[in-house]
Amino acid sequence: MAEIISGKVVSAAKREELKERVKALNEKGISTGLAVIIVGNNSASRVYVNNKKKGCEEIGVTSFEYALSEETTEAELLTLINELNNDDRVDGILCQLPLPKHIDEKVILNFIDPAKDVDAFHPVNVGHIMIGDFTFLPCTPAGIMEMLKFYNISVSGKKCVVIGRSNIVGKPMAMLLLKENGTVEICHSRTANLKEETLSADILVAAVGIADFVTADMVKEGAVVIDVGMNRNAEGKLCGDVCFDEVEKKASFITPVPGGVGPMTITMLLENTVRSAEAKA
Ligand code: NAP
Repeated sequence: MAEIISGKVVSAAKREELKERVKALNEKGISTGLAVIIVGNNSASRVYVNNKKKGCEEIGVTSFEYALSEETTEAELLTLINELNNDDRVDGILCQLPLPKHIDEKVILNFIDPAKDVDAFHPVNVGHIMIGDFTFLPCTPAGIMEMLKFYNISVSGKKCVVIGRSNIVGKPMAMLLLKENGTVEICHSRTANLKEETLSADILVAAVGIADFVTADMVKEGAVVIDVGMNRNAEGKLCGDVCFDEVEKKASFITPVPGGVGPMTITMLLENTVRSAEAKA
């Protein structure tokens, strides 16, 4: 039976560390601030933004919320970002996605000062991640690396298979595993013989977005299985990409959903915000 990797436990430990770092900055007279922009009335986005604000409060970071109407123009949003880029109280700028259809997400994300891009979505920061020399961590993959470290799971020399090649999860995940000397393979919807690939994995990361996609017959005995998926099953319950009940019998370690990768993502966003303030210091 697999040992459960608890994102809640790792996240709580990390937030304690961040609290201390924010306190140390405050003692030097340096404040830490995160600007959160939300455009429109997407209810899921509102939940995410509230959780990010709560996370800031917990570790002593000031959050500045900009809740804009659905009708906000791209030009108006760029004007706000320009102000925040030049505001010394703001160490990180986060623009909650998705944006309304009339706003080009790429234009907006590329306009955020790379030095305040705590989501690490700006091409400059993506480039830094690619060359393995970065300040801002890609939040979800970095949260996974933090969990592996916490549970003393070494990546070096391991065969790592990542299912999914998105810019937010799959690709940066592969880069972080590679940086830790894993032998990394990325699979996607066009991968031939996916099962053959996943069966070779010592560490398997599923970032597909399909409930119950990874079944026990796709997993090597003793593998570490990380489930990034956040899906709703037929009953509307939150579930991952992995058939947890059957895979936990075969894996050595496994992340549950909820309570696995999810809690780590916001924590790593907070880590990036604190890093930005430390760089300013
Ligand atoms: P995405 O952009 O939709 O990417 C999904 C990836 O899965 C794509 O690369 C796609 O391949 C691949 N895929 C789809 N069907 C496949 C199949 N049959 N076989 C193999 N690969 C297949 O999604 P994402 O943004 O990376 O997110 C993935 C999941 O993680 C979602 O459930 C999302 O909600 C969740 N998520 C969770 C967190 C968190 O904090 N816990 C953060 C981000 C995302 P192609 O490229 O070929 O289409």
